[in-house]
Amino acid sequence: MPRSRPHIPSIAGAPGAVAPRAAGQPASGPLPAGFRWPDGVRAAATFTFDLDAEAAMLADHPRTADFLDVMAHQRYGPRTAVPRLLRLLDRRRARATFFVPGWVAEQWPAVTRSIRDAGHEIAHHGYLHESARAMDEATEERALVRGLAALDTILGVRPSGYRAPSWDMNWRTPGLVARYGFRYSSNLMDADHPYRLATGPEPGAATLIELPVHWALDDWEPYNYLPGLTGTGVILSPSVVLVRWTLELEALAAEGGLFNLTNHPFVSGRASRAVALEQLIERAQAIDGMWVATCDEIATWTESLDLPPVLHERPKLPNGD
Ligand SMILES: [Zn+2]
Repeated sequence: MPRSRPHIPSIAGAPGAVAPRAAGQPASGPLPAGFRWPDGVRAAATFTFDLDAEAAMLADHPRTADFLDVMAHQRYGPRTAVPRLLRLLDRRRARATFFVPGWVAEQWPAVTRSIRDAGHEIAHHGYLHESARAMDEATEERALVRGLAALDTILGVRPSGYRAPSWDMNWRTPGLVARYGFRYSSNLMDADHPYRLATGPEPGAATLIELPVHWALDDWEPYNYLPGLTGTGVILSPSVVLVRWTLELEALAAEGGLFNLTNHPFVSGRASRAVALEQLIERAQAIDGMWVATCDEIATWTESLDLPPVLHERPKLPNGD
């Protein structure tokens, strides 16, 4: 007897939906200079999970360490959601990228090893999910090193990718990350395609591959609510979120871009949200020429291209600052 699976209504085929293109059909817009996908591929999708667990609350609100309710809410991720998500990814034969704060690896060694052992990529996500925006250089470096040490000790992993906690970066962050041997960053919001990011203006400055992200492709905004701590109190239906993400998936597929989805196990690992996520992955896998891959795989491909580096520079303010 076939297994009955809940169905989240999707917009596929609905008026206004972006029609999938046939295999080999070129992207509707020009690709950035020098950029191309591997033969037979016209766009890519990566499904990523930031395993924030308690760390996301503890970094911004240390007093929540005293709040059983908040800690338990965050522990839904490693305790309940990760096993469900690993089953889901296994059903879809999809490999994902998990960005893991070092502290979380230390607190949840068996869970993080289960992710590694299922063949998913493990990447860096700070130590205790610290924001780098207002950090001095030495503090930022300590967090990076401590995160690396934890991933090495607990998982034996040397990550190639870095996602800044909350995507918060300062102007030094790319250079610091490159100095520690990372090959890619997945943090910035200025592009639809992967690109080569310069870490400084001088000729020969180190570069990273940037895999761009966006708040609209993050589950935190539509789903997450902790009274007094985060969220607006409006929790969207998975059917609404599935429509939103499917539209972006199909539009980026048409543009030949990268669909880079950021989920958090404690957020999107809840039952009906996981159903919607599985339907989204199925949709991505059904698009002709769509490469569903890990961040490392996409970064490795992009590295092989001779792309001109993109330099972001701090703007000068009118008062001269
Ligand atoms: Zn995070």
